[in-house]
Order: sequence, then structure tokens, then C-alpha cells
Amino acid sequence: MKFGGTSMAGTERIRRVANLVRKQAAGGNQVAVVVSAMAGETDRLVNFCREANALYDPAEYDVVVASGEQVTSGLLALTLQSLGAKARSWLGWQLPLRTVESHAKARVESIDGEALIASMESGEIAVIPGFQGVSDEGRITTMGRGGSDTSAVAIAAAIGADRCDIYTDVDGVYTTDPRIVAKARKLKAVTYEEMLELASVGAKVLQTRSVGLAMKEGVRVQVLSSFVGDDAVPADDLPGTMIVSEEEMNELVENGEVERQHVTGIAHDKNEAKVILTRVPDKPGAVAHIFEPLARASINVDMIIQNVGRDKGETDVTFTVPQADLARAQALLEDKRDDIGYNRLITDSKIAKISVVGVGMKSHAGVAATMFQSLADRGINIQAITTSEIKVSVMIDEDETELAVRVLHTAYGLDAADEAA
Ligand code: ASP
Ligand code: MG
Repeated sequence: MKFGGTSMAGTERIRRVANLVRKQAAGGNQVAVVVSAMAGETDRLVNFCREANALYDPAEYDVVVASGEQVTSGLLALTLQSLGAKARSWLGWQLPLRTVESHAKARVESIDGEALIASMESGEIAVIPGFQGVSDEGRITTMGRGGSDTSAVAIAAAIGADRCDIYTDVDGVYTTDPRIVAKARKLKAVTYEEMLELASVGAKVLQTRSVGLAMKEGVRVQVLSSFVGDDAVPADDLPGTMIVSEEEMNELVENGEVERQHVTGIAHDKNEAKVILTRVPDKPGAVAHIFEPLARASINVDMIIQNVGRDKGETDVTFTVPQADLARAQALLEDKRDDIGYNRLITDSKIAKISVVGVGMKSHAGVAATMFQSLADRGINIQAITTSEIKVSVMIDEDETELAVRVLHTAYGLDAADEAA
């Protein structure tokens, strides 16, 4: 079981979490619990680091920010004990949860599950601070913002858990953002691949890395809400969204538990910016000249279009970068202007990327055509397109985001049936 920051924010909420944990244990389950810091706490700690030293040493930053989870893990163990349960906390270095790569963005290398399993078998509930691990040098590390999700999946894999329940402040993964589409439906199940696409294109329910790890390790994940009443559906009845392999999804469809859709969900992302370089020489190596400096600066390029060269031997190149990196990208490209040999550099951050995602489109033609036609019917102009096996993304004007999401949600038959019917 993993609980996010809003679920851990204060004594009363921790008591509620303790009751959910106790119920699972009472149902005959061995339980390991991974916790986040209290909501807002990590931001507060990050700010202290900035104030202390703007050029902070990442190793010391980790010492500071990892403390939020240390507090909540101890508090949850105390609360469980106060309710008569046997519980103890296991800090990252005590397990140990070994990480590699740099501080502040460490990756899990290995977890020794032995002591944890022994303690759980003796009837103890294990409480583990998320987000933190230990480096080869024996120093505390943290795994990037939102990293507790990844801790939870990694621990579930290490102890061979039947399931990794991620309790958060939403009750599952939806067909789209319910704040935009009132008729968005909660999905009973999505595949790892779909969740990866949805997570990386803006449905920020889980840290993307945690989904990749779950896929690699075959961990069955459920996303569900901790904000439930006493008469709520028990977690074992799967009230949230299950994230599963394609094989398990096919079984769910065959058993009639999940309906087969061509499109599973629609995501939107307003955090990208568009860059256009006009009149780039249409010759081998020209595009490499553009993207090489961006790659060296670790700027992620997403959509790319190169117009068909016109007779003049020149072409326009359009691509997107994260809005946060736009200024850096612009500076780098201006610097390389002579090397690349473009005419004008035009940028626009008022764009949005809308993506329709679904494993169903692997075996069904016409998904992209439906998207283009539905947007055209509303006069929404498509500026760029990218596709993968299970995703079609378009770039549109940012002001048309909400309209586009609504139109597509209806076009793919995803709207919930009217309650009144
Ligand atoms: N507390 C950390 C953060 O806010 C890790 C997490 O909650 O997942 O990013
Ligand atoms: Mg989170």
C-alpha cells in the first residue's frame, strides 16, 4: 500500500491511513506500506535548501528533503501501534534500498527484501519512507519529485507482492481530465503501455518512472483513493483503476469485466512550446545540426515536422520542447545560426498537445482519421501530428484545448451515460 502526501497530511489523516492498513492486515494480508511526506512538506524543504545555498550540493539537498518521509513513516508506525497493531519503520538505508546515479534523481538499483519479508511474516506491518534510498557511498539519496510511487513499485517487486495499491487523492485513472469533461469515466483497467503514454502526456496520477518499472517487473498496480468512508468498497474488490499487462487486459475483456475500446483515454499537455526554423538548407546533416546542440543540453524534443523541401532547396523545420526549456533552446539555436543556416527563428508557447491513447488502435484502423475529422468539424487547426502504435498526438492552439478534449471524448464514445436515463 502506498499513500501520497494529501493522505498523510496531519495526525487525523494518518489515523485514517492506519485504519485502512489495519483492515488489509485484518483481512489476512501481509502488508508493507510506503508513505510520502505530508503534502507541501517537500516543497518547503526544497525552499530551505535554496535559501541556505542557491548552488546547493545535491547530496546535502537529499539529506534535507528525505526527512519529510522519515517523519511520516515514523508517525504511521506510531499510529498503527496506538491502534494495537505491530508495526515498525524501515528507512531506505536500513532495508537497504540501493540506488545509482546522481543525487536528487537516483534510480533504484536493488532492494534487499529479506529482512522486510521476515518482519512481515512475523506479523509486523512494515512502514517504509518513499522517495529515499542509499548510494554506494552510503549516503542518503532521493529519487526525483513524485518518487514515492517508484519506491512503492520497487518494493512490491522486491517482496513479490500480489498487488501494489497506490492510494492518492483521485479515485482512479479517468478517460480524460474530469475537470474538463464532466462525463469522463473512471477506467477499471489500463495497460502499462497506455498508462505510460497517459502519464507522460499530462495525466499526472503516477510518476512516469514507476509505471515503467511496474511494466518491467510485472507488478500489478491499483490506483485508488484514500478518501473513503467506512462503508467504502474494500481495496480487494478493486474500486480503483488496475494497471496491468496486455495479457491480463485481454483476459479482463474476454471475461466481460472490461469493455474493449479503440481509444482508452485522452490526455492534454499545455507545457510544450513550438519552435520553427524557416528556410533551413534541404541537405544531409541540416537537421542533425539543429538537434545535436539541444540533445547535448538535455533538452527533450518531442514533435518534429520537416516540410517537404520546395524547389529552392530549402525547408522549414518545426518542433516542440518543454516550455521551461524554451529560452535555453532559443539561445542555443541563435548561437548556432550560422552553422544551421536558417532564416528566421519563430517560437510560440501558446500551443497544446492533445493525445488519444489506446492499445485498441493497434488492431483498428481509422482512429487518426476520426480525430482529424472531429477537430476539423469544430474548426480546430492541426499544426503538427505524431503517432506511435498506441497513440496519436496533435498540436493545436492552446485556447482550443478544452474544446478539443471534449469533442474527442464524445467522438470516441467515451462519455459516461446520463445518470438520469
Ligand atoms: N515527497 C516527494 C515529493 O513531493 C516524493 C513523493 O511524494 O512522491 O516529490
Ligand atoms: Mg505523487
